[in-house]
Amino acid sequence: MNIVIFGPPGAGKGTQSKFIVQKYNLHQLSTGDLLRNEIKNKTALGNEISSIMNSGELVSDKIVGKLIEQFISNDIFKNKIIFDGYPRTILQAKNLDNVLEKYNQKIDIVLKLSVSLETVKKRIFERQSQENRADDNEKIAIKRYQTYEKSSKPVIDYYQKSKLLRVINGEVSISEINTEISGIIEGIKG
Ligand code: AMP
Repeated sequence: MNIVIFGPPGAGKGTQSKFIVQKYNLHQLSTGDLLRNEIKNKTALGNEISSIMNSGELVSDKIVGKLIEQFISNDIFKNKIIFDGYPRTILQAKNLDNVLEKYNQKIDIVLKLSVSLETVKKRIFERQSQENRADDNEKIAIKRYQTYEKSSKPVIDYYQKSKLLRVINGEVSISEINTEISGIIEGIKG
């Protein structure tokens, strides 16, 4: 099973991905984590993307496309991926379908976590003190939320058309979201 988890920054994508990974024995592919690693390791790519990431903008489709293909092409992860933070644009959504098809795979479900800007601000404020992420401050959080609002609409429409989309209320507690997601996954596992 391959799952896409979708939502604005601070929606709980990372937390819920980790829960799904443990419960269903999947692998988390977080493009944000992969990109942050490049910056931490001071690679050429890391230097190229750090200012973009720190300003709350999106890194190019081409760069993230390469990262996800490296992951998808690895047999260890075949049909066991939860995509956390990818796709974020319509081009990425189409690219994901193409790359998965190339490796005889597909997406089984898209989970969209819905949260308000107010909640995002509150959660990012909490995360800032725990994780010390360079892009987690209120101004950048608002920018990232706006970036999401702008680019996510066509992606949501795309998955709605393919009937893969499930919308989840991301305002409730972590365990309530866990329960709802488990119900959806159990439903498609049959
Ligand atoms: P995240 O950890 O998913 O919130 O991502 C943090 C930052 O990494 C984003 O604000 C973007 O700058 C970059 N990023 C992560 N995933 C993508 C993606 N799929 N496309 C473009 N940029 C991305």
